[in-house]
Amino acid sequence: MQTQQRQLLSLGDPYFDHQEEEAVQAVIKSAWLTNGERVQRFESEFARLHGVPHAIALSNCTVALHLCLVALGIGTSDKVLVPSLSFVATTNAVIYAGARPTFVDLQSVEVPHIDIEQAEKLIDESTKAIMIMHYGGYVADPKAWRQLADRHNIFLIEDAAHSPCAPEVGLHSHMSAFSFFSNKNMTTGEGGMILCHSQEMAERLKKLRSHGMTTSTLDRYKGHAFSYDVPEVGYNYRLDELRAAVGSVQLSKLAGFHQKRAELVAHYREQLQAVVPEIQPLFPKNHPSVHHLMPVLLPSGTDRQHVMQTLKDRAVQSSIHYPPTHLFSAHSQYLGERTLPITEEFAQRELTLPLHPQLTLQDVDWVVESLKIALHGN
Ligand SMILES: *Cc1c(COP(=O)(O)O)cnc(C)c1O
Repeated sequence: MQTQQRQLLSLGDPYFDHQEEEAVQAVIKSAWLTNGERVQRFESEFARLHGVPHAIALSNCTVALHLCLVALGIGTSDKVLVPSLSFVATTNAVIYAGARPTFVDLQSVEVPHIDIEQAEKLIDESTKAIMIMHYGGYVADPKAWRQLADRHNIFLIEDAAHSPCAPEVGLHSHMSAFSFFSNKNMTTGEGGMILCHSQEMAERLKKLRSHGMTTSTLDRYKGHAFSYDVPEVGYNYRLDELRAAVGSVQLSKLAGFHQKRAELVAHYREQLQAVVPEIQPLFPKNHPSVHHLMPVLLPSGTDRQHVMQTLKDRAVQSSIHYPPTHLFSAHSQYLGERTLPITEEFAQRELTLPLHPQLTLQDVDWVVESLKIALHGN
């Protein structure tokens, strides 16, 4: 069978070469494994590329989102507006902080960002922050969201797990959180980062990520300090030197990755239009994006299970982004009497196709041909 000879087209693959290997070896030789100069270098490069003054590296994006809330003083009895259509970590971070998530429905099934007018109506005196998420790498107008936040004197946090170095990301919010998990646009295996604008906040975040201690091991090693105080209870949310070293290499390649992703998405759009025009790509073609995902909308009533099985039989991996958070057993209690009809329709029809820098245009053709077979047979 033709399909068994084909290599699996995976949803997303990391791309490493000798540079990452050498970077890791250098850390091992240096024998300084955490909280050192490679973390500082990775942070300053990341901040500079975003045009934001401060970056704080962390062990993953989930803890980054949690720390944003803690640092902004959000806790018990506060509410935070969140998308239900996101990875569950967005909502979980709010719950870790002791606050309550308020789910906001989507603008539309074609533009699956939370709806700004509905969000404004949901704001009450307990609402302290809004978390937006740049779905699939498509930027969710952070400037407009900041204006809304300012009108109500609340905080704007970006879950930017899909969108490192995307246009405007990090610039307009109080804080933004990034992920370097294995399937993200750039990866350190596990890893995360917060961007923020004030020196005071950056220092607070650095203390909070390291147990709340007032000095770091590096400061003490260099003789800058002999002891420390713990003025508030912090966490161990640090990133190590090995992963920071990988992060710097990945960051240097990110613009190239993004260009490749954009070319593949342009080809997907053309081929879908030509071969299976009833399957819609999301967002207008020129919507600012770093193309983390290749999501499409299947026609209403399509048997998605059958489509996914047909793709699988032809060695094409596919997925759903995301099962809505408000439908999970642990999270449905936060919805109350409300419903999120657009989120639910979207989640029923969405399908995510392979997208990563090592795919070829021919791979895209194969995926689109497979979709045609799934919908119409051979
Ligand atoms: C991956 C992801 C996270 C969590 O990132 P980790 O680094 O794995 O903790 C949070 N939000 C979104 C939207 C994500 O895709």
